[in-house]
Amino acid sequence: MTGRILIVDDVEANVKLLEAKLTSEYFDILTAHDGETALEVARSQSPDLILLDVMMPGMDGIEVCRILRGDSRTAHIPIVMLTALSDIEDRVRGLEAGADDFLSKPANDLTLFSRVRSLIRLKMMIDELRTRQSTTDDAAGLTMAEIAPEADGGILLIEADAIQRENLSAKLEAAGHGVFLAETAQEGMALARDKDPDLVIVALDLGAEDGLRFVSQLRSDERLRHVPVLMLLDDYDLARLAKGLDIGVTDYLIKPIDGNELQARVRTQVRRRRYHEKLRELLDQSVSMAYTDGLTGVYNRRYLESHLDKRLAAASASGKPLSVMMIDIDSFKAFNDRYGHALGDLVLRAVAAALSDNVRNIDLVARYGGEEFAVVMPDTGADGALLVAERLRDKIDELRVAVEGQEDLRVTVSIGVATAMGGSESASLLQKRADGALYRAKGTGRNRVISDELDRPESALAARA
Ligand code: GH3
Ligand code: MG
Ligand code: MG
Repeated sequence: MTGRILIVDDVEANVKLLEAKLTSEYFDILTAHDGETALEVARSQSPDLILLDVMMPGMDGIEVCRILRGDSRTAHIPIVMLTALSDIEDRVRGLEAGADDFLSKPANDLTLFSRVRSLIRLKMMIDELRTRQSTTDDAAGLTMAEIAPEADGGILLIEADAIQRENLSAKLEAAGHGVFLAETAQEGMALARDKDPDLVIVALDLGAEDGLRFVSQLRSDERLRHVPVLMLLDDYDLARLAKGLDIGVTDYLIKPIDGNELQARVRTQVRRRRYHEKLRELLDQSVSMAYTDGLTGVYNRRYLESHLDKRLAAASASGKPLSVMMIDIDSFKAFNDRYGHALGDLVLRAVAAALSDNVRNIDLVARYGGEEFAVVMPDTGADGALLVAERLRDKIDELRVAVEGQEDLRVTVSIGVATAMGGSESASLLQKRADGALYRAKGTGRNRVISDELDRPESALAARA
């Protein structure tokens, strides 16, 4: 994995040291020696990660961090504060200003590399989601703080040591979090599945069990794969942490655990979780916008066509029939002229709803264009299709669209039906046949159903007619 990292430190030797280490791991490096330059580079180069010194003359790292977080162009970039080993105060201030983590100087290689990789991986995921939804939505600029101003999620705490467990849970509850407690990995897994927590805090050492095994189990569960995991460990266990970060530990705390540090980290993780969920939601919305018709909520023509191709291939493979209906509202233009476009829209919605309500789940209703709809019916022969079409025609004939201050509106449709009989027929030919039948339904009086099968001498329907 590569990525672009911005190193910010007023001491040239510190910059050089980090630059050498990270270049040897094939990261691209940008540098800045003061806060102002850091902001400029962050905005113009959008790095994947920022390593930010706290103590700098002029604008300090805390201030830089706060500004980066408040700017929609940089709010999503992970920030790691570089602090002096002993300075707990700086760490807490950094996390409160929106930093994702901190490293003490000089940074231990293992911690540096695993931390950097894990944050860059997360950044790439966020980028992916941001690009996918930015074309359809203006929410790309949302910052984490806007999405989760109150990050009080449900937290699952798995810790074998009773004193530690009580102590931490008291601190979390005091900060307004709901806490679920587990002593063993097994209990923890059951609770995770049941409660769907926003964050899991798990001790690396679970008595007879291994916290890392728990994490890998959690990560292989489809539903829990994205829940952040905060790991608790002793500093002599740091070597095992690298493994943990590889398999999906998102953050960690070294015992003895400082209360402020705990709060700040928990808050950051819960925020990230919310950010992730929000982006996912937006992504789902934009996907559905690409496939559905905005006015009526049924599928659009583009989706219909790709769906019909797949359905035809399946029908031809299984030898089962498939039918298509083309449905067109009768004299809709006159209707629009008489009542206005807005009421026309209302009728389009009502017709779409009536169609959707009166077909099976596996049938697909789409707006083909204007006042024309299509229905795809898998596993349905000509006789069945004709019955369904007749039922739909009848339902719409009975439809009354209520309009305030006016008589209820009435509307009828004409329907053409065509059936592919297990052979290999193209979607366009099938649609053409349905269209031809529709055309004849219009020509013979409207408010009626015509099956294309009637024209085909080999068909059973034609033989009976
Ligand atoms: P026919 O019975 O032969 O189908 O007559 P028609 O008037 O329904 O057919 P035509 O194709 O001449 O007119 C379709 C009309 O549908 C014209 C257009 O103004 C209207 N229309 C198309 N899309 C919309 C829409 O989204 N909203 C509204 N209100 N009207 C629409
Ligand atoms: Mg029409
Ligand atoms: Mg038309």
